[in-house]
Amino acid sequence: MKIIVDFDRCEANGVCVGIAPDMFELDDNDQLTVTVAEVDADRVPDAEEAVAQCPKAALRLA
Ligand code: SF4
Repeated sequence: MKIIVDFDRCEANGVCVGIAPDMFELDDNDQLTVTVAEVDADRVPDAEEAVAQCPKAALRLA
């Protein structure tokens, strides 16, 4: 399972980073990066939480 970011929607507010700092990173230019190529099975609940909590609906799992 991968995390897909719609960068046209992301406003770099860091909600996802707060939920799953091991999977998301914001750099000094407010550019979001997904730091995992695949979500480990035991991290799926937090990935789903990040998707659900993103206020811009910029995340999805595929
Ligand atoms: S929670 Fe959504 S809008 Fe905020 S940084 Fe993450 S992807 Fe972007």
